[in-house]
Amino acid sequence: MVRQVILQLDLHRHLEGSHSPTALIDVARTFDVRHPAFYDAAAGRFRTPAELVAEVTMAGPTDDAMVFYRCIIKARAAYVSVPAIGALARAAFREGVDDADGFEMRLSLFSMARTLIENQRLDWRAVTPTEFADRYAQQILIEVIAARDEVQAATGTPMLLRLGLSRTFESEPHYRALAAMVIEHARALVGLDVLGILPPPDTEPMPAPLVTILDELRPHLPDLTIHAGEFAGHASIDRTLALSPRGIGHGIHALESPATLERLARDGITLEVCPTSNRLLIPTRLAALQAAHGGQAPLRALQQAAVHCVLGSDDPTPMGTSFRSELEVARAAGVDLVRLEADAVRRWTEITGAAPAAPTVR
Ligand SMILES: [Zn+2]
Repeated sequence: MVRQVILQLDLHRHLEGSHSPTALIDVARTFDVRHPAFYDAAAGRFRTPAELVAEVTMAGPTDDAMVFYRCIIKARAAYVSVPAIGALARAAFREGVDDADGFEMRLSLFSMARTLIENQRLDWRAVTPTEFADRYAQQILIEVIAARDEVQAATGTPMLLRLGLSRTFESEPHYRALAAMVIEHARALVGLDVLGILPPPDTEPMPAPLVTILDELRPHLPDLTIHAGEFAGHASIDRTLALSPRGIGHGIHALESPATLERLARDGITLEVCPTSNRLLIPTRLAALQAAHGGQAPLRALQQAAVHCVLGSDDPTPMGTSFRSELEVARAAGVDLVRLEADAVRRWTEITGAAPAAPTVR
């Protein structure tokens, strides 16, 4: 008998992109956040989730990454206190349960702490690195871990948390203090991620002081993933391989280089492919890659090159994605779903040290 249900493991999802309109309006009402995104001052009432959708969701594909970031920035307006962030995290984990058998959530702790400080009308650069790490970032981290633990215990759905560090790297002392603080909480996390894009010419840089911080954290959090080969070409991936990551976020531009593909396959490095994210954020680059590979979707072409690939929803709210919808996109593109599932199980086992539980019947 052919097995119909495949294990749904979302291995690339960001917390900042997982605040649904419903969760944002709930939090705005509970914490009385009268930001114009959430509150219609002229009408003297909070907006409805339906009214917020267009504000926090991309209207369509564009090569201008700012369109995406503007959605994220609007959602961040709800980061008014640690309890508000906790409520948003709880909602994001609960919504993840409806969408997957297990998932990995990435936590951009620096930007969340920075935003919390800004939303309290303070200048984050005037906050000492120690205070930034201990009073803001640590309280957020503790709250998000508690939210994860609570929803995981209540639902039985396994949820992994990975610390994301941005290559925007706004302040070395603040990053250093944050990294030192995170070591105490490393047991609640599964690894590190490097994310964020910069304006051209180098859209995916690896700042040397950030690499030093990664090196210091890795004895505590060895599993490293790096966003690369998304907005930049295969050379960006080649550069990150010097750091021995176990996963590459996106990485579809590996298709430009047979040598890069060969190295990824040989070293067993997993690419986390997010088809709708690519369609929305890098439409021109995606079209060029597809044209160069006989019209095939990158995920299918990567599988044919024997590269391990998993699937991710990336940022469900601004991109309007879910893991299930990405699975349908992959199916329609002719992706080998049995192999995709095997690669997800392989990667999950690599991250956690244990195989995921069998899928529940849906
Ligand atoms: Zn991502």
